[in-house]
Amino acid sequence: MKYKRILLKLSGEALMGNRQYGIDPERLAEYAQDIKAITDQGVEVAIVIGGGNIFRGVAGASKGMDRVQGDHMGMLATVINGLALQSALENADIPTRLQSAIKINEVAEPFIRRRAIRHLEKGRVVIFGGGTGNPYFTTDSAAVLRAIEIEADVILKGTRVDGIYNVDPEKDSKAIKFDNISFDDVIRKGLKVMDTTAFTLSQENDLPIIVFDMNKKGNLFKVVSGENIGTEVKC
Ligand code: UDP
Repeated sequence: MKYKRILLKLSGEALMGNRQYGIDPERLAEYAQDIKAITDQGVEVAIVIGGGNIFRGVAGASKGMDRVQGDHMGMLATVINGLALQSALENADIPTRLQSAIKINEVAEPFIRRRAIRHLEKGRVVIFGGGTGNPYFTTDSAAVLRAIEIEADVILKGTRVDGIYNVDPEKDSKAIKFDNISFDDVIRKGLKVMDTTAFTLSQENDLPIIVFDMNKKGNLFKVVSGENIGTEVKC
């Protein structure tokens, strides 16, 4: 395996499967199998989960809701997703801990960096819920932050497209995919990989990001073993 410790970022929408809202248990079970394939190889896996399948603070704010209130709802949504993912992983016999950035002690451990690293060393998958714990941030920023904190080798952004293209491949059939691209070129070309805060944090800390299609079975294994099936962003 090319990477020893990874930070996998899954958006909330990834958990919906083919639904319009909420969580698809079958999709979660598929993800659990993909994750098991790499933990079985001794890869240490931390996951940051989004909440967009349930609630986004900006969406609430656009309808007149207080933004901070909405963001708190979004952060709680990520904890709900984290619990669902934990359950799916445990059904696949993967020992898992959920750590939350906002205190919710009856359902999740608080985020404690050293404890998270210890869990990883013991072969437990660690799910980070609650984003960064602060409003006005995204779970992409949480993913980069946690990846740096736990000294992950790479951030794997599992999406429904198979990499970064020069134009949106869902809108233009002539879109060209990049196998590798530098942080500077992503900015120069105005491509969208993560929000600017997350992206800059990754660049400043020289942490590579690989964007790949998580919905194809076996792809996670391929990426972790070093196969270039998505797009890698590095310095
Ligand atoms: N959120 C937040 N602070 C964070 C992370 C998330 O306030 O550090 C809130 C924010 O309202 C966001 C929602 O949680 O819209 C869900 O996260 P995100 O939109 O990043 O989820 P994803 O798009 O990955 O499903």
